[in-house]
Amino acid sequence: MVTLQIRYVGLTLHRLTAMAANGIPEDVLMDHDLIKDLVDVAKDSALLNGVLMRTKETPNSSEVVTYAPFTLFPSPVPKAIFHQALAVQTHYNRLVDKISQDSSFLEEALASTIKVDDFTGRLFNIYRHVLQEGKTQSIVLGLNRSDYMLDQNGDGSASLKQIEINTIAASFGGLASHTPNIHRHILKVAGRLEDSKRILDNNPSAGLAKGLAKAWDLYGSERAVVLVLVEELQRNIFDHRYVENELWKRNIPVIRRQFEDVSKTGFLDQDKRLFVDGREVAIVYFRNGYMPQNYTEQNWEARLMMERSMAVKCPDISTHLAGTKKVQQELARPGVLERFFPGEPDVVDQIRATFAGLYTLDMGPEGDKTVAMALAKPDQFVLKPQREGGGNNIYGAEICQVLEGVKQSTERMTYILMDKVQPRPVHNYLLRLGTPLKLSTCLSELGVFGAYVRHGQDMVLNECAGHLLRTKSDEHSDGGVAAGVAVLDNPLLV
Ligand code: ADP
Ligand code: MG
Repeated sequence: MVTLQIRYVGLTLHRLTAMAANGIPEDVLMDHDLIKDLVDVAKDSALLNGVLMRTKETPNSSEVVTYAPFTLFPSPVPKAIFHQALAVQTHYNRLVDKISQDSSFLEEALASTIKVDDFTGRLFNIYRHVLQEGKTQSIVLGLNRSDYMLDQNGDGSASLKQIEINTIAASFGGLASHTPNIHRHILKVAGRLEDSKRILDNNPSAGLAKGLAKAWDLYGSERAVVLVLVEELQRNIFDHRYVENELWKRNIPVIRRQFEDVSKTGFLDQDKRLFVDGREVAIVYFRNGYMPQNYTEQNWEARLMMERSMAVKCPDISTHLAGTKKVQQELARPGVLERFFPGEPDVVDQIRATFAGLYTLDMGPEGDKTVAMALAKPDQFVLKPQREGGGNNIYGAEICQVLEGVKQSTERMTYILMDKVQPRPVHNYLLRLGTPLKLSTCLSELGVFGAYVRHGQDMVLNECAGHLLRTKSDEHSDGGVAAGVAVLDNPLLV
């Protein structure tokens, strides 16, 4: 028999009460026998609901799979802030799309970064190549996820602050479509029927697939496939499968291929139509290609070929660049949002309300000021390189070490500085294969999925496609489910 040990790491009941914040009450969280039962129920429920992941040991086989990591209980999110995040999403979709079409903005915004950051530089070379050659495809498909944390204000209220927007390979829309049922079930078993009714439906798989289907329709060839460009290690395949299956339901054929497959068998015909393994490709859906380690020289060649092709790219290279952290920082400058939304002050206000402080590290007096500010109070900031996928940011004392090393050189321009968002911690149990159960002090990050399709000048689809709550222990500064830090969660609106 397996004995379950729950560690209550030095928490007083008083503190727990303070942190429940209308979430799950402390007497429930501390009920040892109940928690033990609920954990078993929860894991079975995750399996029954298809909230799955392959294992580290066999990442490319579905013979043995496990539950995707998730929280035992949903986490409280203020209702008004949740709706604020959903409401701003269609504006963010338009913003990303407008940036992607503004070559002088992208050139200026990324000028310093591409001088010193090799990866962004290579992406930018592809962008220039495609610009010079002239765009071949007028269908644009964007599937993104804007991530937020809730900054605590002095008066106990909270403000929605964007962490970043992911314009490439934004993940967990598939699994997030199936986590609500798990938490509803857990809450019922815990005797909390009323709470269970407060868990919202969520269906990003359908929302993302709707965007893909619209772009595929516009491409206009029944035989052409959606090519999901995947990584070598495919632990998170079930997340992809949910979106793929939504496409198959609509009789849209889907193939999964890696960069290497595109290199080996891919070519463009005289009209620049892309063929891979003999199939015409209507859409390349990138679920890979956002990290330097995804690219060999051959893979860079393959990326260029796909970008030059008639296939719809999700995202295209300009939309990929619009999601860089340097662009995020440039958007926070006075007047920049106004440039993208002339005559729409309400839209500007709604977007700007979600910005945390963002600061340039370019050479010159403004960047010098940023350096001094960060060195004086490193705990109030996050230092971010132009990277995606979790685990790359720099926090606290390490900010000083890094900045002291680079502050006199152009190398500092590979980073931006951002205010550290300080959410209110809440207690919960994080369930992850092989990790002992303990009550953790947790921080949550709310993601909102966006889907849009533009055909020439016309936005033919612009929607909020659902949400994702991820929660991590406050022992970790950085996040990410794939990075092994955060786990899937659901908002309990309060
Ligand atoms: P990545 O592209 O690697 O996902 P993010 O900007 O999303 O980069 O940062 C990774 C994680 O670091 C986030 O999920 C969040 O947990 C933490 N983080 C990033 N920026 C901030 C911030 N400004 N304040 C607090 N935490 C942050
Ligand atoms: Mg992130």
